[in-house]
Amino acid sequence: MFRRKTMITVLATGMLLSSGVVYAQTNSAPHAQASTAFDNKVIKKISAENMYNTIKYLSSVPREAGTEGEVRGVEYIEGQFKSLGLETRRIPFPIYDYKTKKQQAIVDGVDLNGRAFSGSGSGNVTAELVNVGKALAGTVPDEVKGKIALVVRGDITFAEKVQNVAAKGAVGILTYNNSPNGNNFGQANGEIPAVAITQAQGQELVEKLKNGPVTATLDVDIQTIEKTSYVVEAKLKPNKNKDTGEIVTIGAHHDSVPNGPGANDDASGVSAVLELARIFVNTPIDTEVRFLTFGSEERGMKGSSYYVSQLPQSDTDRMVAHFQMDMIGGAEAGEDHPLGGLIMYTIDGHKNLVTDLGASASSRMYDVAVPYGQLGRSDHQPFHDVGIPSALFIHSPVEPQYHKPTDTLEHISKEKLQQVASIVGASAYQIVRPDTPALNRAHVSPASVDYDFENRPVD
Ligand SMILES: [Zn+2]
Repeated sequence: MFRRKTMITVLATGMLLSSGVVYAQTNSAPHAQASTAFDNKVIKKISAENMYNTIKYLSSVPREAGTEGEVRGVEYIEGQFKSLGLETRRIPFPIYDYKTKKQQAIVDGVDLNGRAFSGSGSGNVTAELVNVGKALAGTVPDEVKGKIALVVRGDITFAEKVQNVAAKGAVGILTYNNSPNGNNFGQANGEIPAVAITQAQGQELVEKLKNGPVTATLDVDIQTIEKTSYVVEAKLKPNKNKDTGEIVTIGAHHDSVPNGPGANDDASGVSAVLELARIFVNTPIDTEVRFLTFGSEERGMKGSSYYVSQLPQSDTDRMVAHFQMDMIGGAEAGEDHPLGGLIMYTIDGHKNLVTDLGASASSRMYDVAVPYGQLGRSDHQPFHDVGIPSALFIHSPVEPQYHKPTDTLEHISKEKLQQVASIVGASAYQIVRPDTPALNRAHVSPASVDYDFENRPVD
């Protein structure tokens, strides 16, 4: 799971609940919700032992995106999918690291210990300073052309300030704070060198400029390093004579944080994706199932975003549900909430097809209707953003080992792995099983259940 402290923006309201998928309705009398033969047929085959072995292999080497460790994990995952006879694809995408090699602002021979903005352009420029205040649009004077703009923080973003002075031909931007605290602020996406200094330093320069020209040198060298990360995709196609044309996706992220073993985060989710692939391969289905593992989730869901962005519209239109599993085996996660603290997080905090099926499956298998809540921070986000019902299955609150070097195999609970894989497997199977429409009218149909929203913080 991606670490971000701010709340995700709610992006959509009134998301489509279903795109033609018929699922259990309580239009007849409620049935006893014991595990059905349907659950047993498929779900009993899930082996926590297999999952544990996958985690053991993956977590023995850190899998930071763009490293050899990621490639090692990807090769293993790909190999597993291929050995099941699935149509498997490794999808590369670029990721970028930025390395600041030089960040200097010199005025009258004095180094101001400036900091290059994140996203600053590189270059070494020497020119006169021009005080342009806040650099609001329409206020930047023409005389800044060929000069370095001296700018104060406030009112608009730094990126906008950079844009406004660059548009007038400034060759650099020296920005000072509007409060006494530090000189490390914001993002400045632009081509020209952009350096930040303190409020006191900036105010001194403003005074100095009243007495005549002041020359400054900005020297910024930021190296961009391109690396490659991957998504692994495996397609399980239904029988040609019985194909709904729809697609269900089941995903997890295979990358770990830098130098982290990432046993629970998220080798656990990957292990469930592989295990579900293994059991679905031998199960008749009428809907395509796509098993996905994403790289660069820990860098802000880069892999899943890339994956969704490269899908043809004809695929996106047919996708009816995305199940995301992230951190599903943490022995010490979930405090004393039922079912080890399992919760289904959606981006908008609303129920959808995925959560309906999850609650129904958990209630008949474990007598607990898994609650739902609102959270992004994993790969269900990009799927939601294009209108696909999606949810994150995770134990909340997360375990103390989260994003630490101690996120190792010994803190993995086989029981939790078994539970989550079973619930997600039974939920997905409810959509892809060939007899779904008939089953929904049958006496043995798994019924929908009541389940609650919980405002439960994940960390
Ligand atoms: Zn994480």
